[in-house]
Amino acid sequence: MTNPVQAPALVELKAVNKHYGPLHVLQDINLQVKKGEVVVVIGPSGSGKSTLCRTINRLETIDDGTITIEGKVLPKEGKGLAALRADVGMVFQSFNLFAHKTILENVTLGPIKVKGASKADADKLALALLERVGVGHQAAKLPAQLSGGQQQRVAIARALAMKPKVMLFDEPTSALDPEMINEVLDVMVELAKDGMTMVVVTHEMGFARKAADRVVFMADGQIVEEATPDEFFTNPQSARAKDFLSKIL
Ligand code: ADP
Ligand code: MG
Repeated sequence: MTNPVQAPALVELKAVNKHYGPLHVLQDINLQVKKGEVVVVIGPSGSGKSTLCRTINRLETIDDGTITIEGKVLPKEGKGLAALRADVGMVFQSFNLFAHKTILENVTLGPIKVKGASKADADKLALALLERVGVGHQAAKLPAQLSGGQQQRVAIARALAMKPKVMLFDEPTSALDPEMINEVLDVMVELAKDGMTMVVVTHEMGFARKAADRVVFMADGQIVEEATPDEFFTNPQSARAKDFLSKIL
């Protein structure tokens, strides 16, 4: 287990601000995620959760403040950005698999193209990861031949193939039929148990209770509350959090 006092932040956001035109979508965000920590981000629609994830992966620029991964400031562009981005795996609501590539190719593409892995090594790693998420036997199929839950597990394997230091999940089960949600959450719980550092935006409070070290509650572009799941769900402090929980629980 990581020592919460001594462990350095793996991901750190300091005074991060971002606007979309007049909309102040991220307002002075300060957030630390330590190695091995699982942070669940919850909050109403439009509060800036996806934008927060996308800035950590540098899919979005920020106006001011800093984001560091293992103490290294995220560069604006160039080679350093590609390298740092490889450290940050992301899984989206829509699985975004390449429709005309096989499941195996979807997972080997990144390691081959970005990391210069040989096809043999990439295949070996991909098959191991596909086994791990329970879809090893589907490797030769195309994404459309898999269920949504299976495709999302492939998307997780694809992100893991880059050997990221942190995994970001943005509502990974929101597009799934109800009966497929747990098969994806189970994979995420296993990842968390294996010590992966994770930031997870989700409305699945069962997952938050089971896997989160900390819940971050966002509203209107701000982090309103941070607490352990137990504290947050039993004794939310802010009116916004109380209101939000009364609507979803
Ligand atoms: P959440 O994920 O919590 O629902 P988002 O981060 O997606 O929130 O969005 C936060 C706010 O920013 C919303 O009001 C949304 O409409 C707005 N927004 C998101 N992306 C863009 C964009 N590319 N351009 C303009 N506004 C955006
Ligand atoms: Mg969102």
